[in-house]
Amino acid sequence: MSYIPVIGLEIHAELLTQSKIFCSCSAEFGGEQNSRCCPGCSSMPGTLPVLNKTAVKYAIKAGLAMNCEINKFSVFDRKNYFYPDLPKAYQVSQLEFPLCINGYVPIHVDGKEKKIRLNRIHLEEDAGKLIHDDFNAVSLVDLNRGGIPLIEIVTEPDINSAEEAKAFVEQVSLLLQYTGVCSCKMEQGALRCDVNISLMKPEDTEFGTRVEIKNLNSLKSIGRAIEYEIKRQSRMLDNGERIIQETRRFNDNRGETKSMRNKEDAHDYRYFPDPDIPQVNLTDEDLEAIRAELPEMPDKRLERYINEYGLSETDAQIIVNQKLISDFYDETVKNYNNPISVSNFITVELLRRVNLGEVSMDNLPFSAKEFASLIEMADTDKVSKNDAKKILRLMVETGKSPEDIAKENGFLIVNDISKADEIISTVLAENAAVVEQYKNGETKVFGFLMGQCTKKLKGVCTPQVIKETLEAKLK
Ligand SMILES: [Zn+2]
Repeated sequence: MSYIPVIGLEIHAELLTQSKIFCSCSAEFGGEQNSRCCPGCSSMPGTLPVLNKTAVKYAIKAGLAMNCEINKFSVFDRKNYFYPDLPKAYQVSQLEFPLCINGYVPIHVDGKEKKIRLNRIHLEEDAGKLIHDDFNAVSLVDLNRGGIPLIEIVTEPDINSAEEAKAFVEQVSLLLQYTGVCSCKMEQGALRCDVNISLMKPEDTEFGTRVEIKNLNSLKSIGRAIEYEIKRQSRMLDNGERIIQETRRFNDNRGETKSMRNKEDAHDYRYFPDPDIPQVNLTDEDLEAIRAELPEMPDKRLERYINEYGLSETDAQIIVNQKLISDFYDETVKNYNNPISVSNFITVELLRRVNLGEVSMDNLPFSAKEFASLIEMADTDKVSKNDAKKILRLMVETGKSPEDIAKENGFLIVNDISKADEIISTVLAENAAVVEQYKNGETKVFGFLMGQCTKKLKGVCTPQVIKETLEAKLK
């Protein structure tokens, strides 16, 4: 029998603040174990939290980017549970009064747009990390991550397939990148996803029993875990078995989910408002100031590229899909106002170098201005199209300017007119019969003569100059 999967996601995104949410320790990824923590974020008794304003601002930016209502009044709560990566035995989170509620994120799957509703986005602190040393049979704790600000983005159960779930995570990641509040590096755990999934029959009016899959940290495993769970639950329902409400873990190597704990020992977190952290009260002016800081979002950029710049939808999408590429594109167009030519050079030549791993967008060894001047040199025949590609490769390798590289390697087309004159005269003399044909009205042989001249004048003169000189001589 075929069932309808009903899926809701909870995405945890680490915010890119410089310091942690309740202390001034560095919130940067990595670092030697336990080198980026203080008594506060190591949960020592008697320490007092001081709320990081930037974390609140970033959470609001994320909310605005995802069409949420922002609560001007919000409260931090203690979520009580014990786990060794959180020595104070509670996590500061938000329950009743989160910062953002009721948003939506549009996704596109199979050419159709669908709005995935958000229930809320709340702000909380991250826990530390356990490192399991199987060899010595011990577990060690690293508290560097403890206290890094996190937002939790909670959807309504509007997602019905693995494709939709992946499209949603991709879109959220894009919006977070544009707002600049999260690195979205899933491989560093900056974006992690929990999946709630149940199945129902088309005629059912109520959702089935749901299962939660915890801590998925790549798009691929989100897709695989959902596919696996749909098969597992379908098989059970077909056999007349009951689905148990439980939390499961996805094993990437085996491609299977496995039970972690069931409802019987589900947590009762005994939330209560944190007495040490003041309530957050925002004014309309605060919110307007934050809204004014938002950059142009991807959907607006896409529109601009297609409607104002005349790019194809495919090219526009490639550029918009990574903020770094889109920013670099805009900066290049500012320096050389030929949007289509710049788009072609980026999507074909530059991204080829990026995909080959020769260079990365966050570490380009040249400026948008230099890149613009390379494209302009190629468009105005100062260098040949083919040499322009070589120059780009050398720019990547050496960081030198395109002008210097062109000069050093003899790529500059100097338009030596006397040389053109001499060579074209020779070509005409060698092909006297063809010239005769031309003069008798067989103008189609022009192409042949042009080809002969170009062969000998390549790199010396631009095609335009060769053509003009040849035409003048044939008259
Ligand atoms: Zn600290």
